[in-house]
Amino acid sequence: MFDWINTSLNRKIGSILAVSLSFLLIVISYSIYQVRVINNELKEVSNVDIPLTEVITQVEMLQLQQHLSIERFRLLMGKSHKEQNSIESFFSRHQTITRLLNRATYLVSSSLKNDVIQFKPAEYRLILDEINAFSDVNQNFEELLKSLLKDGSLPEEKWQYLEATASNLDENIVTILRQISQLTLENTRYTEEHQRGFMLIETGLGVCAFILSTLLAAYVLHVIRSRIHNIHQQVEQLHTSLEQGVPIIRPDNGRLKPSDELGELELDLKKMISRLSDEMDTRKEVEQQLIVLATKDKLTNTYNRHKWSEQIQLLINLSEQGKTFSLISLDVDHFKKINDTHGHQIGDKVLQELAGLLQKDLYQPDMVFRMGGEEFLILLTRQTLDVASDIAERLRHEIEIEIHQAEGLPKFTASMGVTEYHFGETKDQLMTRADEALYHSKENGRNRITTVI
Ligand code: GH3
Ligand code: MG
Ligand code: MG
Repeated sequence: MFDWINTSLNRKIGSILAVSLSFLLIVISYSIYQVRVINNELKEVSNVDIPLTEVITQVEMLQLQQHLSIERFRLLMGKSHKEQNSIESFFSRHQTITRLLNRATYLVSSSLKNDVIQFKPAEYRLILDEINAFSDVNQNFEELLKSLLKDGSLPEEKWQYLEATASNLDENIVTILRQISQLTLENTRYTEEHQRGFMLIETGLGVCAFILSTLLAAYVLHVIRSRIHNIHQQVEQLHTSLEQGVPIIRPDNGRLKPSDELGELELDLKKMISRLSDEMDTRKEVEQQLIVLATKDKLTNTYNRHKWSEQIQLLINLSEQGKTFSLISLDVDHFKKINDTHGHQIGDKVLQELAGLLQKDLYQPDMVFRMGGEEFLILLTRQTLDVASDIAERLRHEIEIEIHQAEGLPKFTASMGVTEYHFGETKDQLMTRADEALYHSKENGRNRITTVI
């Protein structure tokens, strides 16, 4: 059964057909056998029982006529007159009876010999014996009558004996007839029962074949439907993943060898989903890289001007919900001199170390932007001017004493301007105020911070 499930659809349908056809073949063979049996039984009735009954009925009729003839002879004998015609017809009837009895004997014995009689052959043998016995007694009786008639006259006790024998023969023939009709009746009843049983079994077999085929077909349909449902679910999942941009669940490839056409479809689908998943991953990576390229400064890995515009607008929008923020504008002091003295590469290294320090020192929601050259902006999300001022001072101090400790870097300082966002102002107004504060720090000798409300 398990292997059958894994065979191809053609084989599955083929095997259902084979089972149904085999069942049908059994039903047909059984029907043919039963029809033959019933046919034989009917043949037995029509070929043996009916002709036998006819023959014996004729014998009975003739026997009755013979009986009347004996009565007639008796009357004529009394008047000592012979009627030649009556005697002749008596003996001609006798010959007919003998012929009919021979026919009956032949009919039964040849039917028994050729196995035509299937139903109670022993009883037929008994009937055959009785017919033979009757035939013998009848023969003797006729012989006796013949010889007595030749004598011309008969005493009363002889007549009485003849009449009694004739009556006995009548009774015998009636008994034989009753036996034959009894057998015919039983045979017919038996055939009818046979027919009924045959119909019942035929119907049962038909119903069984129908149920079996239906169950098998339903089972195969169920298996196919559930597998199609699986495929459908995978396609749906894929659709949802693509629509919502969530990662595609990579299918378990399971068995590599598909068992049937649906299995091939499943495997193709799994392969396609796997490939799509790979492509989505690659695309995600590329997208991530593009985002980094679009929003980050390559040299310092801080955010760029583009990200600044986006982020400052976001914080201005959030300020409508009462969330404030502050801004630090930072510029390296005498940076040109560092470049000139130590070279452009060291200048770059200074910028990288500075950016590293700023990012390390700030909290997660705060962001550092390189606005160009050695100028940086620091957005302090949710910080008031006082806190921002403290942070700026701490950063200034760290820049002055920490960065030059890195190998090969010169000592340098930075100036800063600190301010807090005023609700309703534009980003340019905020930047201008921060730049003015920075300019103030430069004017006042650099390496310092200026706070502007
Ligand atoms: P101040 O104290 O007034 O700010 O003087 P400064 O020398 O720092 O300012 P100035 O604007 O005169 O010089 C800035 C220098 O920064 C000029 C430019 O060559 C240099 N610079 C700009 N971008 C880069 C860069 O990406 N790398 C390096 N190494 N130098 C840069
Ligand atoms: Mg400078
Ligand atoms: Mg500058």
